Amino acid sequence: MHEIRIAKDLSEIVLDVARQEKLSRVTKVNISFGQMIQIVPDIFDFAFREAVRDTIAMDAAIDIEILPVRMKCKNCEKEFSIIENSYSCTNCGSTDLDIIQGKELFIKSIEGD
Ligand SMILES: [Zn+2]
Repeated sequence: MHEIRIAKDLSEIVLDVARQEKLSRVTKVNISFGQMIQIVPDIFDFAFREAVRDTIAMDAAIDIEILPVRMKCKNCEKEFSIIENSYSCTNCGSTDLDIIQGKELFIKSIEGD
């Protein structure tokens, strides 16, 4: 249930930005998660609602984008997406891989007025 902690951290960022931008309310929050963060969107949505209760972001819609895991093979330099937890190179079979996408956790944009 790390969604609760993440939702709390992100809600604080949202409210900070809203204050800086002098928004009277936040209408939408666009968030990107790497697949490796293993967010359950429904749980995150619920946790975020709790975190922004009684704030100017309480009615904000939340849009969650999940970024697929991408690897780069250190042996043959092929880049590929991970499918069904198969952590080996699709080209040469090497398991010596770099993660180039999938651990992201950030707010893409905040909308409000
Ligand atoms: Zn390879």
